[in-house]
Amino acid sequence: MTTRVRFAPSPTGLFHVGSARSALFNWLFARHTGGVFLLRIEDTDADRNREEWVDVIIASMAWLGLQPDEGPFRQSDNTQQHAAAVEALFDHGYLYACACTGEEVQSRKGDNKTPGYDGYCRERNVPRGSTTALRFKVPFDGLTIVNDEVRGRIEFQNAVLDDFVVAKSSGAVLYNMANVVDDRADLITHVVRGEDHISNTPKQQLIWQALSAATGEEIALPNYAHLPLLVDAQRKKLSKRKDPVSVASFRDQGFLADAFVNFLGLLGWSPKGEEKATREAMIADFQLSDVNQSPAFFDVAKLTNLNGAYLRELSLDAFIEASLPWLAPTEGAWSPEGHVVPWPADRFKGEVFRAIAPVVQERVAILSEVPAMVDFLFLENAPVDAAAWEKVVTGDADAARILDAAMSSYETAPFEAVQLHEVTLQFGEALDLKLRKVQAPIRVAVTGKSVGPPLFESLAVLGREEVLRRLSLARDVAGTSK
Ligand code: GLU
Repeated sequence: MTTRVRFAPSPTGLFHVGSARSALFNWLFARHTGGVFLLRIEDTDADRNREEWVDVIIASMAWLGLQPDEGPFRQSDNTQQHAAAVEALFDHGYLYACACTGEEVQSRKGDNKTPGYDGYCRERNVPRGSTTALRFKVPFDGLTIVNDEVRGRIEFQNAVLDDFVVAKSSGAVLYNMANVVDDRADLITHVVRGEDHISNTPKQQLIWQALSAATGEEIALPNYAHLPLLVDAQRKKLSKRKDPVSVASFRDQGFLADAFVNFLGLLGWSPKGEEKATREAMIADFQLSDVNQSPAFFDVAKLTNLNGAYLRELSLDAFIEASLPWLAPTEGAWSPEGHVVPWPADRFKGEVFRAIAPVVQERVAILSEVPAMVDFLFLENAPVDAAAWEKVVTGDADAARILDAAMSSYETAPFEAVQLHEVTLQFGEALDLKLRKVQAPIRVAVTGKSVGPPLFESLAVLGREEVLRRLSLARDVAGTSK
């Protein structure tokens, strides 16, 4: 039998990394089993859905390379089927009308913390009307058993599952019901989703079985797999407020989709204990039964390191292309939200970036770090790190003689990294100063910072004239605050 899985996000907010992990595990499962992966946007909660979040879901999935085989479908296209399913269940006695208000339910509960409805209307034969909700008659006793592929057998006492609402008085069909109707229509064989849905699963199984009986359409229950929670360094559930959780924010920071997918894939599943795995390798190995139960640490430092490794593996052309949105955004193309290119557009030169790119590629972990590494090449004057400037230019008694020597050597030296390195060693020796000491004021004078790409490559790319101009500006103030 062909496996059919779905990713069923609700467009109620940013596309969260937890959702992306669910999407990925569904996709891996479908690819591994030769099955079908479908995308269903669960957009029936009109109060909370926004169309722009639908676009974000679709764009994020495309960025991650998780193309659905079917869909995107809209749950809202199926409202007639949802309503028909509600009627079928009502006609067969699985539902009853309930006239209780939220306050009434609450006041009868008093201090009893047990969640749920007390069944007040269950035997009252309340007529259906514009103020009545419809509740599912959960059997009083017995067990509902969920055979979870990750957690094994989970037993729910029916006595503690309350008679939940499937349709509101407005007629709106609620999540548990709509989700099951759609999963049946889509012939879903495996429901793979976050563990926050475990408590819904017994209710959904009850609905599923009731629908099979009421409609005569006997469809086998899907297999369920609930994926472990994602937690932060404090082992707390990732917080939408405190943690960077939207997939788009990672793209905007300059993570590569391949690195991000690799990282997500190993959140709660790592059959070989490896940290690096291609999509192909993950597809080949993926088994729901290998997913862990324990929470998975969403370790941004680990992701950042992994991304650096992926960046270093790119060809030079691919690295340049990946960096361009941060350096010279093209109109109409995607550009990182919130990122301001630090130089006027006409100052960026592709061939200059190409010349420095190989050494930048070795040194950045995320693409948003690239502009600060190369800004000295594209700004008229490099933005100055005041503390570094004070330490090695204005505040160092040796700075003047170092800069003098540099200017006179660089005046005539061939302007290539190797030769620049050579002459700098030579004049350093003549000054009886170590190379590190000599490089410091030169670097700060030319690039504005004490860290960045290797100095001699930087000088060579910037060119003699501009290097001499910047050295001379620094020379004018060297040692003056000492
Ligand atoms: N729309 C639900 C959600 O976003 C779907 C859950 C499910 O996969 O069943 O949480």
